Amino acid sequence: MNYQSTRHSQNTATFTEAVLSGLAPDGGLWVPTRWPTEVTATLTADLPYPDFAAKLLQPFFEVKTSLNDLTTLCKMAFDFPVPLRQIRNNLWLLELFHGPTLAFKDFGARFLSACYQRFNLAKPMTLLVATSGDTGSAIASAFHGHSTMRVVILFPEGKITARQQQQITCWGDNVLAVAVRGTFDDCQRLVKNALQDPTWQTSLGVTTGNSINIARLLPQMVYYAYISLKWQTQHQTVPNFIVPCGNLGNVTAAYWAKQLGFPIQDILLATNANTVVPDFLRTGVYQACAAIATLANAMDVGNPSNLERLLHLFGNSEALCAKLQATSVSDDEIRTTLLEFATQNNLVVCPHTATALHVYNQLSPKQIAKPWIIVATAHPCKFEQVIEPILNTVISVPAQLATILTRPSAYKVIEPNLSALSTLVMQPQNKDLR
Ligand SMILES: *Cc1c(COP(=O)(O)O)cnc(C)c1O
Repeated sequence: MNYQSTRHSQNTATFTEAVLSGLAPDGGLWVPTRWPTEVTATLTADLPYPDFAAKLLQPFFEVKTSLNDLTTLCKMAFDFPVPLRQIRNNLWLLELFHGPTLAFKDFGARFLSACYQRFNLAKPMTLLVATSGDTGSAIASAFHGHSTMRVVILFPEGKITARQQQQITCWGDNVLAVAVRGTFDDCQRLVKNALQDPTWQTSLGVTTGNSINIARLLPQMVYYAYISLKWQTQHQTVPNFIVPCGNLGNVTAAYWAKQLGFPIQDILLATNANTVVPDFLRTGVYQACAAIATLANAMDVGNPSNLERLLHLFGNSEALCAKLQATSVSDDEIRTTLLEFATQNNLVVCPHTATALHVYNQLSPKQIAKPWIIVATAHPCKFEQVIEPILNTVISVPAQLATILTRPSAYKVIEPNLSALSTLVMQPQNKDLR
């Protein structure tokens, strides 16, 4: 498989080149040059998850890549369960939060890390990551101890939960945690600017672990493919999905799985009070704006990167606006939904998952008669400061997080500009892999 830039189709790259560069040279995002739909018919949902993933992803690698190699890679990356749990009649929860950092970001981060181990780099590289909370911890956990990768994680100061911050700042060694005095969009802009800066490239060899990296998105197609196929086999119907959205990586992966021919009907987008995507779909005019802070903080995005990939998939903004449906959910609605499902279904979800449950609650009677799968993006214990006062309960902490909470933590603080980041990252004591 080759990849092309969303901006100029003549800019192409192999899988390895696309992963190592992160961003295309014209500033676009890498997308597959074709959809290998022939692989879909060869897959059945009775395969173990890592074997299914390897078969599905094989066409997306270089031609010579062996299935055995990929199966090993996928066994390393996806070493945790992916349960589908029934909540109500026709309502299911796809729990993507059973990895080491308890959010769906573990799928992409662990796959990316396994790819880098396979690349076996001759020279060390710096992986830059902007995080709205959960990406940073997933990448830090997946890359901690890597001998050829230095990881720099940018998070918006004061805008993530204490437990999210602990999961980012507890690593040391090859992981440098940086609090940026700004928003997630500032962090993301810094990463893009650094990637396009020739001095960064020559002095460090930089790439990104954000969902602009193609190796983050490809593994996310797998759970949509696997679960929808399994669903169809068991129920002889085609499921619908509701996806909590921020930077639009997860929902792009859902549309890519559908594009590959997996049995997926409607895909609805849920956003928090950041209305950039619903506004765009309603008006056809894209207006990036500053992110506002909400209870679902990992979705506090005012300029979502992966919109460019969705636009590319649908061809133009008219087609995209006609097909996609997004609903903005307020903090009050998140609170009400959390309470409703806790009381009625004894179900505690994270605030992001609650946005999708709220969208579910708004469905028409005709729609609600169909089967719906809510994508549960994080474990509620990561957001205990939000949830516990609302539900008046204590959320128990799984073993993965309990261990992390006991580690010492450290981080640096910078102003939201590239020179501040350069000064920090190029300092010899921060530059060397420890
Ligand atoms: C990252 C994240 C999201 C948003 O996913 P995108 O791929 O950025 O749209 C939603 N929920 C949680 C818990 C997240 O960590």
